[in-house]
Amino acid sequence: MKRILVANRGEIAVRIFRTLREMGMQSVALTADQDTASVHARYADQVISLGPGALADTFLNQKKIIDLALAHGVEMIHPGYGFLSENADFSAAVEAAGMIFIGPEAASIRAMGLKREAKLLVAEAGVPTVPGYSGSDQSPATLQAAANEIGYPLLIKASAGGGGKGMKKVLKAAEFLEQLESAQREAQAAFGNDVVILEKYLTEPRHVEIQIFGDGKGQVVALGERECSIQRRHQKIVEEAPSPMVDKDLRERMCESAIAAAQAVNYRNAGTVEFICDASGTYYFMEMNTRLQVEHPVTEMVMGLDLVRLQIETALGQPLNLERIRQPRGWAMEVRLYAEDPDHGFLPQTGKICLYEEPNGLGIRMDSGVDLGSQISLYFDPMLAKLIAYGPTREACRARLIQALEHTFLHGLKTNVGFLHRVLSHPAFAAGHTTTGFIEEHFANPHAPDQYVIPALAAGYLADERVDLTKSPAQGPWEQLTNWRLGA
Ligand code: ADP
Repeated sequence: MKRILVANRGEIAVRIFRTLREMGMQSVALTADQDTASVHARYADQVISLGPGALADTFLNQKKIIDLALAHGVEMIHPGYGFLSENADFSAAVEAAGMIFIGPEAASIRAMGLKREAKLLVAEAGVPTVPGYSGSDQSPATLQAAANEIGYPLLIKASAGGGGKGMKKVLKAAEFLEQLESAQREAQAAFGNDVVILEKYLTEPRHVEIQIFGDGKGQVVALGERECSIQRRHQKIVEEAPSPMVDKDLRERMCESAIAAAQAVNYRNAGTVEFICDASGTYYFMEMNTRLQVEHPVTEMVMGLDLVRLQIETALGQPLNLERIRQPRGWAMEVRLYAEDPDHGFLPQTGKICLYEEPNGLGIRMDSGVDLGSQISLYFDPMLAKLIAYGPTREACRARLIQALEHTFLHGLKTNVGFLHRVLSHPAFAAGHTTTGFIEEHFANPHAPDQYVIPALAAGYLADERVDLTKSPAQGPWEQLTNWRLGA
């Protein structure tokens, strides 16, 4: 029995603790003072406080986390996603302290950490990459010349980027220098590194990624694809497995490429190789995420595997007993529930959850980090939960997820639940026409039809003969009220 600390919070910590319980492992949670919800702490055997302060003093404080782990006899650390999960120094420091890091070695994280270096590395291993410029000469004149050669539209990407930061689309040559400056400024501020790469902007692409597992000794297995094309501001909100565009042949070719990319860095543990695909089935490497992904549940459902358990077994040095490429069974879809206002630019929302009811039923899974009474603050990511559905076919799965969203009650602050419902209900989504431009194309004006609902209900009510105001006004609902009011 091992003692495992999860250096994370929210839904992913809950998710990991569930597996630790199943495996009979001892689990240790971390909490920060601002994290008044701390739902994840309920699932652990032991809770350690990181105390007060900003993230740099709590979930990003490597030394504090490692010291606390050692003091509490922790043997393994799972970083979850976000926070320190892709921090090479953290992986190295955990191992230097004599504990096991449930993730890749520092060198692999470092090699895939910068988009420029990663692209060059995988290209060498024969993996197709998006045509563009990944040179070391970063002078504006060289970049402008390279851009003109690539052609427009093109994408400027921060090499150290993530989460869509430092990414700029350029439509024509005249805009290039201005956008370059802005991308560099953003990258410098967010990552302390202003190196950029240029990529041809693929129109109507799909985001398809391959889940891989490596043993750190050269063996890598691929566990099929996930499609994550439905994005807003380059951030995923709906993910599914398999992808409606990927057939057996394409899956096998993409899995081979993903394995080659992972082998190029002698990869250990769970990782994801992200590709961008066009309508003809041509695909290009975008980047590799050296951690467990938010959307890993859809792979778990169609592959019938517990990826967290696999991570722990791999970290303990157990051999990877998986077929090289498995075929998915059935269909799984995930939506990310955010505290945000889709009607006002998806602005993050804060507040207290005053009504909370999770959906349930056949093929429904809710990975949640919140509960009734949870206070949603600006300190942490606004993602509240993930709702996942599984069904025998894509259509069965979609209908199930829509049904589940209709039984997801989360009130007290604005969320994207209604917006997700409209995305899944859209005929283009139903038809599998999912590209990264989907939201922009179909939801340019994401306003809910609520503005029509209340007048329509009122009109319907008045049209009802029982409320014929001209004949019997005293029967109207307002006329039947007494003067008594609850409240002012
Ligand atoms: P980040 O690391 O900031 O998330 P990625 O490189 O993973 O950035 O790209 C995020 C998203 O941006 C992709 O899923 C895709 O929607 C879009 N994207 C990236 N590269 C291209 C490209 N060359 N052409 C068109 N869209 C792209």
